[in-house]
Amino acid sequence: MKEEYDVIIVGGGMVGAAVACALGDSDLSVALIEQTMPEAFSAEQPHDLRVSALSIASQQILQTVGAWDAVVAMRLCPYKRMRVWETAGDTEFNSDAIAYEALGNIVENRVTQLALLQRAQTFSNVDFLCPTTIGQLSYIAGKGSVELADGKVLSGKVIVGADGGQSRVRQTVGLGVTSWDYQQHAMVIYIETDYEQQDITWQRFVPTGPQAFLPLTGHYGSIVWYNTPDEVRRLKALADTELLTELTATFPDCLGKVNKILGVASFPLKRQHAQEYVKQGVALVGDAAHMINPLAGQGVNIGLLDAAMLAEVLIDASNKGKNIADIAVLKRYERLRRNENLKMMTVMDLFYRVFSNQLMPVKFLRNLGLGLAERITPLKNKVMRGAMGLEGRLPKLAKGETIIS
Ligand SMILES: Cc1cc2nc3c(=O)[nH]c(=O)nc-3n(C[C@H](O)[C@H](O)[C@H](O)COP(=O)(O)OP(=O)(O)OC[C@H]3O[C@@H](n4cnc5c(N)ncnc54)[C@H](O)[C@@H]3O)c2cc1C
Repeated sequence: MKEEYDVIIVGGGMVGAAVACALGDSDLSVALIEQTMPEAFSAEQPHDLRVSALSIASQQILQTVGAWDAVVAMRLCPYKRMRVWETAGDTEFNSDAIAYEALGNIVENRVTQLALLQRAQTFSNVDFLCPTTIGQLSYIAGKGSVELADGKVLSGKVIVGADGGQSRVRQTVGLGVTSWDYQQHAMVIYIETDYEQQDITWQRFVPTGPQAFLPLTGHYGSIVWYNTPDEVRRLKALADTELLTELTATFPDCLGKVNKILGVASFPLKRQHAQEYVKQGVALVGDAAHMINPLAGQGVNIGLLDAAMLAEVLIDASNKGKNIADIAVLKRYERLRRNENLKMMTVMDLFYRVFSNQLMPVKFLRNLGLGLAERITPLKNKVMRGAMGLEGRLPKLAKGETIIS
């Protein structure tokens, strides 16, 4: 272990681990610090409650950095179709329309994280400090340092805050956020169904909030039930058999017969956006920079785009002999990602507001919108490409291009 690194990444969740892999084999020395090592995977384990719909762009990033094969070797569920509907409007997206094999993949968060952490350990320029707890984190005159539990102090030209929504890095360096609560919780329910899952994910909008279904492998699936905090508390307090009865009565019958409830968790929904992503010698990525309504499952997808873009900017600057800690270098990363993320957050908010509104004119307009999306093929294909992460300015890794010269 060195005492001075070019880049110290605090947080080895999906996004921090992706930064480490994207910087792998570059000329930069990297330390990856994660406080908790995820449990090793075994195919006999039940699915985790935390799963994400990984976009095609995310798949490509993992593929280019060499972590995708490990995901495939563990567990994933590709989906080809996505159906969205409410009382009157209905539309179904199918990846065949734009000649893709799938719209995305449902992957347990731990599987994605493990695949990236395993890959990070194979690079000689990445020191893997996991599990390691951080003592003092300091930022003085534009230079960050991290004290490890054993008292050793590491200094980094660039400290990457990949430490989630409560980011200590963000708070230590004084990067402010704008945030609000949606006054809604997402209840995640892991279920066993009578029939095996198909290749479809769906989302239905009802006045209390969206109801979504994500297929998992075999006879398993993940339900996301959005509701008020009080209602979610009530549902969580029910015995599994009572919850199963409520679920069967509330959810559409396209689920088939639900045999069992195997696990339940809930998450308060919050929107949070860092006003700036960077300072001299510091950059934020993933949830440390933004927390977005999970309505259309984009949080980690935009986080992986941050990871890929930050690595691209740092390697490019280093190749040109620039100081990677320089605010001008880091601002380039911010310019390339913050507006893209803001656009995605705004679209999610628009969805949330429009679909939770019961005023007649708004209901009319959203049904019209779903109807138009269904009938106008170029519009439908554009929406589909957006959800797959294929629109906007993409980092090279998301296009399958290398960033190591
Ligand atoms: C209900 C729900 C459903 C969702 N569904 C989707 C979906 O379908 N698709 C999607 O794209 N996104 C989805 N998301 C969002 C997604 O889960 C997050 O965006 C993603 O987990 C963020 O990853 P991250 O690596 O940035 O942060 P985190 O997952 O929070 O990881 C941060 C890591 O940093 C570590 N850490 C923190 N502090 C320290 C420290 N001091 N020292 C060392 N390590 C530290 C933590 O242990 C952790 O491993 C969903 C979110 C919710 C709530």
